[in-house]
Amino acid sequence: MLNDILAHNERFLQEETLSAIGHAPRKRTAVITCMDCRLVRMFEDALGLERGDVLELRTAGATISEPERVGAGSDLIRSLAGGIYLLGVREVLVIGHTNCGLAHADSTALTASMQALGVDPQQLIDSQGLGDINGLMSWLGVFNDVHMNVQEVVKVIRESSFLPKIPIHGLVIDITSGRLVLVDRDQRSA
Ligand SMILES: [Zn+2]
Repeated sequence: MLNDILAHNERFLQEETLSAIGHAPRKRTAVITCMDCRLVRMFEDALGLERGDVLELRTAGATISEPERVGAGSDLIRSLAGGIYLLGVREVLVIGHTNCGLAHADSTALTASMQALGVDPQQLIDSQGLGDINGLMSWLGVFNDVHMNVQEVVKVIRESSFLPKIPIHGLVIDITSGRLVLVDRDQRSA
C-alpha cells in the first residue's frame, strides 16, 4: 500500500497545483466524526465541504471514551481548544454515523483479535487497571446507541472547562445514503 501511495503522489504532483490558503477554517467550524473508511470523500460531499472550510477531527466512533471524559481534557478537547483559540472556530458539529464499528462491538471478537496479534487482553486489563473486559471495551469507546453516543459527546464538550460557551451540535449521518439527521441543535450563539 505504501508504494502505491508514493507512486500516486508522484503523479499527483505532476498533475495538480494546489492553491495557497490559510490554516484558519473559512466556515469557522470544527467537525468531529468517525474514522470509518466509508466516510472518506462521501462525508465532505454530503456536507458540501471544500478544502479550507472546516477542521475535521476523527476518532474511532466519533466518541470520547469513558475514561477520557473525566475532566474533559482528552486529546479531542485539546484539538478543539487549539481550533477555537488559535484558529477561530466558533461552532462545533459532532457527527456519528449509522452502522459504526464501535457500536455493539463484540468482546469475544476483540479479545480473539488481540490474542492473534500477540497481545494478552487479561494482562493488559490488569496492568492498566481496567478491571475487566467491560473496562477494556469502555477504554476503546464501545457504545450501543449512536444517537446516545453523540449526545454524550456533545455534553462532554459543552461542559468542558477548557472550552468557551459556543454552539456544539449533534448529528448522525446515514453511512449508506449520506442523509444527516439532527440529534441536538444547540440554541446558544457564539
Ligand atoms: Zn464509526
